[in-house]
Formats: sequence, C-alpha cells, structure tokens
Amino acid sequence: MANDLTNILQQVIRANGALSVAAYWSLCMAHPQYGYYITRDPLGQGGDFTTAPEISQLFGEMIGIWIAEQWHAMGQPSAFYLVECGPGRGTLMVDILRILSIVPGMSEALQLHLVETSPALIAKQGEMLKGVQIVWHESLSTLPDNAPVILVANEFLDALPIQQYVYQNDKWHERVVGTDADGRLAWGVSSEALEHIRMDASAGAVLEISEAREDIIKQVSARINAQGGSALFIDYGHDVSGFGDTLQAVKNHSYTDILKDCGEADITSHVDFGRLKKLAEDDGLHVALCGQGDFLKKCGIHIRAEQLMKKSDNIEAGLKRLVDEDQMGELFRVMEITK
Ligand code: SAH
Repeated sequence: MANDLTNILQQVIRANGALSVAAYWSLCMAHPQYGYYITRDPLGQGGDFTTAPEISQLFGEMIGIWIAEQWHAMGQPSAFYLVECGPGRGTLMVDILRILSIVPGMSEALQLHLVETSPALIAKQGEMLKGVQIVWHESLSTLPDNAPVILVANEFLDALPIQQYVYQNDKWHERVVGTDADGRLAWGVSSEALEHIRMDASAGAVLEISEAREDIIKQVSARINAQGGSALFIDYGHDVSGFGDTLQAVKNHSYTDILKDCGEADITSHVDFGRLKKLAEDDGLHVALCGQGDFLKKCGIHIRAEQLMKKSDNIEAGLKRLVDEDQMGELFRVMEITK
C-alpha cells in the first residue's frame, strides 16, 4: 500500500506532469505535513542514520578547537556570530560549546544562531542546549550582518536537493520522476534538450548540479567578505567534479528505493566539493579541502582521545570510525573557507 505522500505525489504528477529530481526531493523531505524532516528526528540508532557528532564527542570538540583558532586568527573580536546550519539534535553544538567555554573571552563574545527547518529537531536542539541563548532561522538570509561570522555545517549540504541531467543523443536532458502505466512513481527523462549546458559526455552519463547548495556557498561567501569570518562544511563527497548518479535513500540504516515510501527515507547525494570550492574562490576567498581524518588529526584528536580514554571505554572505537581511511576518514571531506 502506498503511503499518503506517495498518493499525493502521484496526483500532482497526473495533474501537472513529471517532477524534476529537485522538486521530488524537496517534497519528500519538506512537505508541510508528511515531509521527512518535518515529522521526525531521523538520527541515531533508533532512527535512519548516524552522523559524526552522534558517534563521538571527539568530533564536536575538534570543531570547537577549529572555531577557537578562527577567532584568534581574526584578532579575538569582542562579538561574533557562531552559526550552525542543520544542527540535527544539537549534539555537535554541545560539544563545541564545552571547548569554547574554556577559552578565555569566547563565551562572552559569541552569539549563537541556528539555521534549521525541522520543527521536530528545533525542539530537540532546544532541549539539548537548555540555558544557552539561541536565535533560530529558517534560512541564512535573516542572520544578522554587523559582526564576523563563524559558520559550521555537518551533513547539511548533502540534505539539500540536486538536479540531475542525462546525456542522450548528444544533448543533456533533465531526469524526472513521473508515473508508469499503472500510475506508480517511475524514473523518466524529459524529451526537451537543454542547450545551455555545454559539456560533452558519453551516452547515458549523469550530471548532478545543486542550485540549493551553490546558493548556500554564495551566501556564505558574501557574508564572509562583508562581515569577516570563516566557514567549515563537512560532508561525504568528492573534490574533483565528475559524472555519475549518486542519489540515495536511507531508511533504518539501510539503502532503500528512492521512489518508495515517500517521506519515510532520508534522500541525499554526494557533495561536489570541487564545484563549490570554485564558487568561493571566484569570490576571492581561500578554500582548503581535505579528508575528515586528516582534518581531525590536525586539530589534535589523538591527544584528546588519549585524555578521554583514561575515563571512558568507547573512545577508541569512535576515534577509529571518525578517522580511519576505510571508515569516515577519506569519504568525508572538510571544506574550510577563509578570507
Ligand atoms: N548536523 C547534524 C544533522 C545532519 S542531518 C549532524 O551532523 O548530526 C541534516 C540537518 O539539516 C537536519 O538538522 C535537518 O533538519 C537540516 N535541514 C535539512 N534541510 C534544511 C534546510 N533546507 N534548511 C535548514 N536546515 C535543513
């Protein structure tokens, strides 16, 4: 039996024609009543997927060290905005604030702003960060603009929708979600050729472009240029742009059919860091890209792990998961944007 959102999407397609991948993705994730992020807390063992901050406190503490370094490099401004996009359960921010609280002057200087669209997760963040003054935003556009900004985002970009294009008969065509003869959701390719995408490829190649992710990088770059500051984006993805279909849906810690159980699985795709890096560089900013493992080691994760191992048992397992090359250490990339 199809769920309610699947029925709604089938009706929408019958009435208006096929949906772009981005439109399908947005409806599954953010439909006001049945959208994935609207209805649930998807994180952790009881949820659909586990993220780095949920694996070990070491992750957030190292991000905290990076933030403290940025603040020092900026000359310790007496006021700055600490911004997190897509803060999930608030776990990362709790670990960050633990570190910042021991840096003289930092707690007084920082004002916390969270960019989040999920009512379920906003409630969780409020509980986790009880006693901390927080301003929530639905988008970056309402953030204040009169002091430097240090922005962090873990597994946020991969949650923003992409467009997909397929190369057929020497032209690019948009990949779409339509319905089959029985009215069920099915993949399709628009017959209209897109002349504005000028890129040769082999037949059947898939090109992924995310206007939503590009828009975030442009907004963040503009703010860093205007207000001062820096940004850190962490996600799974690739440093060199290429072709390929990386769309995936995850439910209950396993891959599932993207067109099934609409609004009940997390849809994501690999982040094309190569393309995003170039955007920030075009705005005159400095961009560094590396694997999560190398980044965390540079921040001193082994020193902190050793301290914690004296008090706690599961530190080593978390450390390995975050840092090892065959775990999250290489697939996850860290993009640092600075002035
Ligand atoms: N950073 C957290 C959560 C990652 S899940 C962690 O590492 O555990 C993705 C997060 O982005 C969730 O908090 C989700 O609600 C949020 N999100 C998804 N789309 C968003 C959007 N368009 N604007 C703001 N937040 C969004």
